This record gives sequence, C-alpha cells and structure tokens, in this order.
Amino acid sequence: MKLHEYQARDVLAKYKIPVTGGGVATTPAEARAIAEQIGGRVVVKAQVFVGGRGKAGGVKLADTPEQAEQMAGQILGMDIKGLTVEKVLIAEAITYEREIYLGVIMDRAAKQIIVMASAEGGVEIEEVAKTNPEAIIKIAAHSTLGLLDYQARDLAFGIGLTDGKQARQFAQIAAALFKSFIETDATLAEINPLVVLANGSLQALDSKIVLDDSALFRHPELEAIRDASDEPLAEQQAREAGITFIKLEGDIGCMVNGAGLAMATMDVVKLYGGEPANFLDIGGGAGKDKVKAALQIILSDPNVKAVMFNIFGGITRVDEVARGIIAALDEVQTDVPMIARLVGTNEEAGRALLVDSVLIPASSLADAAQKAVAAAQARG
Ligand code: GDP
Ligand code: MN
Repeated sequence: MKLHEYQARDVLAKYKIPVTGGGVATTPAEARAIAEQIGGRVVVKAQVFVGGRGKAGGVKLADTPEQAEQMAGQILGMDIKGLTVEKVLIAEAITYEREIYLGVIMDRAAKQIIVMASAEGGVEIEEVAKTNPEAIIKIAAHSTLGLLDYQARDLAFGIGLTDGKQARQFAQIAAALFKSFIETDATLAEINPLVVLANGSLQALDSKIVLDDSALFRHPELEAIRDASDEPLAEQQAREAGITFIKLEGDIGCMVNGAGLAMATMDVVKLYGGEPANFLDIGGGAGKDKVKAALQIILSDPNVKAVMFNIFGGITRVDEVARGIIAALDEVQTDVPMIARLVGTNEEAGRALLVDSVLIPASSLADAAQKAVAAAQARG
C-alpha cells in the first residue's frame, strides 16, 4: 500500500523529521484558504502515486493565495502519467541551497535493508541509478540494531555533508527514517528532496512511503487511510474477494487453488511456450462466489487470450468450482477460450455440470497447458 506525500509526511513528523506543514485541498477555494493561513509563498503539489510530479507540471510555486487558488485549479483534475489529481497539498514554499536524496529500501535480492543517499537529490533515484550510479552511496543496515552512527556518518560524508553539525543532523534524520521504515513495516521510505537551507539545516520537502501489504494488519491506523487509487482495480477486487492475485504480462489467465499449485501451473505454461497473465490463487475451500469473482478479474484483463483452470479438489469441491464458473459465464460475455483441468473431490459431479459449457476439458496439467498455449496462439 502506498501512502500519499502528505500522509508519509505525517508519519515522518512523528519521528521528528523536519517536514513542511500545510494542508490538503480538493478545491481551489480550499487551496486559497490554506495558503492564506500559511501566509507568504506556498507550493501547490499534486497528490498522486507517481514520481516526477514536478517535471509533469504537478508542483507549482505560488506567491499569493490568489495564485495558489489559480494553480490548484490547474493541477486538480490534471492527468499525470494516467492518474487524475484529486487532491493537492498546499505547503510553505522553502528556499534552499541544495537537494539531497535519502531512502531506505527493502532490497529483496540482497535480502537486506539498504539505506541510500545521493548528492543528486530532486531527481528520481532510478534516473540517477541509470545515468550516474556512483553518485549513490548505499549501506546495508541491520534490521534490529538499526542504522548505526558510523554508518549514518559515512553516508553524510559520502554526499559531501562534511560540516560536523550538519552531518549530525543528517545522521539523526537517517536514523529516524530507518526507524519509521521498521516500525511501519515499510518496503520503502524516502525523502527526495531533503534540502539544505541557507542556515545549513536540513528539511524534508517530499517523502514517500510504501507499506508491506502482508503486515498491514499490524497497522490498522494506516490501513484506514488507504486511498484505493494506489491499487489497480483488479487487485482491489481480488483483495476484497479474498483472492491472491498478481497481474503479470502474459496472455494466459490462470485460476488455480493453492499457491504452490499456482506456481507449478505457471511453470508448466512457460514450459510449453506460453506466458501467464497472472498468478491467481483462489485458496482452499473456495466457493462459487470466489470462483466467479476470480474469473471476472481474469477476464477484465484485455491481454488475456485464453483461460486455464487448474483445480485440485481437496477441501475445495470441484462441483462448487464448476458452479462458480457457470455463474460467472452467465454474467460475463466473453469468447476467450477456456481450458479446464478439474480433478479431485466431486470431480465427476463437477464435470457433469460443465458438460454443456464452452469449457474445453483437459486430462492432465500438461494437456491443459498445451491446449491453453495453442488457444492463445491461435488468437494471435
Ligand atoms: P516529485 O517531482 O513528484 O518528486 O515532487 P517533489 O515534491 O519532489 O517536487 C519536485 C521539485 O519541486 C523539487 O525537487 C523542488 O525542486 C521543487 N519544490 C518542491 N517543493 C518546493 C519548495 O517548497 N520550494 C521550492 N523552491 N521548490 C520546491
Ligand atoms: Mn520528489
């Protein structure tokens, strides 16, 4: 789950990281009122889940409340990388001398938490990683010991914060960001830019936090502020239906019960030259409604050219699954070919229910995968 900039800012403020205040507006008039309260120059910032809002015209400085109103009018409703701006943050505009990047990420490949800093702040870190990777300093931090003082100092010196006082403040901010990352079960916490003011002190101008969905149950207060637009619609529907669903890039939609079987199914699809369109686990004992929701989710992906059911009925009953498929096909108009390998508990009853349906039966997993790959290829 992603947090909006203003939500991430509120989290970081609790960890005593210096952030800019301000409020969120959904109308130009509200923006003006907030700007009046702040007084002086403000920055009007689109609250959407993409980076590079500045370059896209979603971050603008306003000298007066009238201007803030006008700019909010321009930014609200704007399309940034396919997302519509529904909220703007109005914050005090800060004058600064330097922009820095500071981030904590869960590096899954390295199985470590990495703290990164770069003297090239203000641009997206992926961009710096591509064009100037040596400008990024990385340190692996211990998950329970935290970011140690010397590590934070190494980062500070590495990006040219050599003044003692400044390095100390940087170390404090880095340690606080690390702590917020751990305590919120985040996979990413970053400040970009972290700016150096004329008096030498540091301030966070933009922050971003991504939370680990699997740990969200430990943070009901954060789950409560979820903005549904952080998730593609299909993933939202899957979550609400209790289905594990990950969209992938291929064209064979897969409906499987059990995560292990779902992975094996994807492997076999690939073995026969196909590409799965998704990972989908309806779970053990799934009933008709879940199967129906799952099929609707699969078919909502325009890339899907064939659907493959691989159901092993243990606790799950094959006849229940068959009823779900029939219910879904009653509601969804589709000419996508569907291949079904349904075995296990109540398999005969399930097959009997589907005998008049459009489903193409398969005798084994290999047979199903081959038929699905052929059907998808036939559709070009
Ligand atoms: P992003 O482009 O989506 O990462 O949005 P940011 O919040 O990082 O803003 C982009 C850029 O706008 C920053 O790198 C700054 O150059 C500028 N900016 C943001 N807030 C302020 C501010 O308070 N004062 C000034 N002068 N510039 C700002
Ligand atoms: Mn930024």
